[in-house]
Amino acid sequence: MLAQRTGMFKSSGTAAARAAVKAAADAGKEIIDLTAGEIWSDLAPTIRDGAVEAIRKGVNRYTDTVGLAELREALARKVSRETGEVWQTDEIAVTSGAKQALFDASMVLINPGDQVIIPAPYWTTFPAQVQFAGGTPVHIDTRANSYVPSIADIERAVTSLTCAIVINTPNNPTGAVYDADTLRGIARLAIERNFWIIFDECYADFTYDGQAHHPIVSLVPEVRSRTIIINAFSKSLALTGWRIGYMAAPKDVISAVKALQSHTTSNPNVIAQHAVLRHLKEGDGAYEAQLRRQLVTARQVGLSALSGLHTVAKPKADGGFYFYLDLADILPAGSGKTADDIVNLLLAEAGVAGVSGTAFGDPTGLRLSYGIPPALLEAGLGRLVQCLNNQP
Ligand code: PLP
Repeated sequence: MLAQRTGMFKSSGTAAARAAVKAAADAGKEIIDLTAGEIWSDLAPTIRDGAVEAIRKGVNRYTDTVGLAELREALARKVSRETGEVWQTDEIAVTSGAKQALFDASMVLINPGDQVIIPAPYWTTFPAQVQFAGGTPVHIDTRANSYVPSIADIERAVTSLTCAIVINTPNNPTGAVYDADTLRGIARLAIERNFWIIFDECYADFTYDGQAHHPIVSLVPEVRSRTIIINAFSKSLALTGWRIGYMAAPKDVISAVKALQSHTTSNPNVIAQHAVLRHLKEGDGAYEAQLRRQLVTARQVGLSALSGLHTVAKPKADGGFYFYLDLADILPAGSGKTADDIVNLLLAEAGVAGVSGTAFGDPTGLRLSYGIPPALLEAGLGRLVQCLNNQP
């Protein structure tokens, strides 16, 4: 008999979507896969060289539990540049991807019974991790407000049990980018009502059409003592498999994270740490610029393919690399149908795979990733538009 807590361990919705794609492909169907939360790209030369050099040198030992001192120093400089505040090495922890940084944050901040506000649609892991820590996710529906919560809605959700709010901007799955005024309002509320801000900016490098990402601490420096910044190189350097993320937070949070990691994973992979360190020291921005150009092109190709949609509103796609569609208009009221049904239809009839919003707390949403080669994207979205336009 397994422990009761395994009842909380449902595999993530995005993993389930990938499994459905594999099953269809194994059955001989040609599928265009728009489920991936990652970008198709080669390695940055600095990453490849840094890793090869570390291997050649025979690097093989544990590092400090929360990362190489030199890497933490380089990250402190990066966060200082981005926030306009000075960060020290002991305010940084290197983690095995942003996912571990978020897990650590939940474990060190949340007491059983605490509430954590998570605007919905949300990245599927946020509420799961809050529950692992014994907390209760409290969702705010942002669908009527362009996927950004209003301050009034957040204010209504705050109670004496509120421990934290999770802000993810640019947002997965919706692509929304939080404006500066909203972030200022959230910072003010957090100070007034005494709660933490878990600020996930994994997609910070990807904003479009004049939108800008605002690190919340750069807007309201006083919120720094109650903010946990979460970031990673998974998306910004297309390194999802390398598992290097980080957290920037007050020293006592980092000390607790260090103790936690010392009993769970120990340090993140040492070769990957050296690779990222090399990139931070020697990268000249050319790789990031090329990745960005690639996404700008893919987004343009995708938006023009989606402009053929008649029955469903076109997405804004301000940030990240996702198109998020609201399928409410093609889900007959009272039919009990959800985006899951449309996802299954798309897979079966159009050979296109997306992720149903049910994975993100939104039964009418559909997430389509555009981190794939443009020709494939165009073909996939063309088939999707045709299939959706045929729905009543
Ligand atoms: N945060 C958000 C919003 C994400 O979308 C993801 C991955 O999809 C992560 C965190 C996890 O990133 P990592 O692969 O670095 O663990």
